[in-house]
Amino acid sequence: DPALGRILALLNDDDGADNGEARVVGGAVRNSLMGLPVSDIDIATTLTPEIVIERAMAAGIKAVPTGLQHGTVTLVIDGKPFEVTTLRTDVETDGRHAKVAFSTDWKADAERRDLTINALYADARGEVVDLVGGLADIETRNIRFIGDAAKRIAEDHLRILRFFRFFAYYGSGRPDAEGLRACAAARSKLKTLSAERVWSELRKLLGAADPGRALLWMRQVAVLTEILPESERWGIDAIPSLVATERALGWAPDPLLRLAAIVPPDAARLEALAARLKLSNAEAATLKAWAMTAPVNDEMSSAAFEQLLYRNGAEGIMTRLKLALGVARGKAEGDLGEMARSARLGKLLDRAMKWKKPQFPVNGADVIAAGIPSGPRVGELLGSLENQWVDENFASDRAALLARLRERLQ
Ligand code: ATP
Ligand code: MG
Repeated sequence: DPALGRILALLNDDDGADNGEARVVGGAVRNSLMGLPVSDIDIATTLTPEIVIERAMAAGIKAVPTGLQHGTVTLVIDGKPFEVTTLRTDVETDGRHAKVAFSTDWKADAERRDLTINALYADARGEVVDLVGGLADIETRNIRFIGDAAKRIAEDHLRILRFFRFFAYYGSGRPDAEGLRACAAARSKLKTLSAERVWSELRKLLGAADPGRALLWMRQVAVLTEILPESERWGIDAIPSLVATERALGWAPDPLLRLAAIVPPDAARLEALAARLKLSNAEAATLKAWAMTAPVNDEMSSAAFEQLLYRNGAEGIMTRLKLALGVARGKAEGDLGEMARSARLGKLLDRAMKWKKPQFPVNGADVIAAGIPSGPRVGELLGSLENQWVDENFASDRAALLARLRERLQ
């Protein structure tokens, strides 16, 4: 990456008085070592944020002070952001907020990160610097805390969820036993975290290619019920066949669909969940649309399905169909009935995905023009006309509907 090369050259330039060093760290190093795509590039440096900004400006590179109190400056080259953060050491912490000081100590910077696989550096020549044994863990896909797991979790309880999130994405085999024990022991502390941090972490976990194993372990050690008690009775058993279905049909991993698979479709409880975890309005609306949709009868006629789409909206129906398809496909092997059901559900889903809501061609102004004074009666008439139009499969056009309206008013 030439832009990255430019930044590293800039920050490793050592002919000034304030010479310093910069290395790529975290997810970018981890993912490139694992042969996986890299999303964002984080850079750690011994230079202070002021000097980072100074050097960037002198080189004509855009510098945005995105988190000066954490020592972070974002450098932007060709629209691509690079987060440059000055090395820090923890001064004190209460498990939710860390107090940090700038430093030039690479080992201390590594040791305040959470997991060994997240604490690897790549220097300007591309050499990997491993101060915590992360390379071996990358090799074996072992998700492990740096140092004493219980202590690291006490510093920041979000690390419980990060442990399972990184296990979901990169782990293999069983989770590290010490880490798992420490997560289990500290689980009650999860409720002290802000909803935003919990949901952001849980959303990422649910967006893993296959979150099934991580969710099983989270249930096993009662971490899941701590953050998602709704999953308690409903269970996470629907996840494996849902994930298999997503893969077979080429659907992208969808955190909300996975969430819907493990909590009950109960509008009141989902509203409470959305408020508790501070889901976005759009996310809450997606869950609500699902909860407000009755299970779809896969043998319904095509006309009845169009009417259902019109009256209910497609979103909740699609969620219903995807979940039902996951369940049916999970049971389909050797079961002709479930195989046929899967085929029917798949066809309905296709239609729901392509569906465009037909436009009701009459409005309130038409009713008023037909002689009804504006008032509640206008809406009533319009609603009943629309209902009839839907019942008759959207067959009548505007002229026919207006004729019917005039007839009714005679
Ligand atoms: P990705 O961006 O792919 O989700 P990442 O590893 O880059 O993964 P970030 O959240 O961008 O994750 O954080 C960058 C790095 O900061 C991490 O790799 C880790 O070293 C450190 N880090 C982030 N959050 C924490 C935390 N809560 N405790 C300790 N270290 C953390
Ligand atoms: Mg990152």
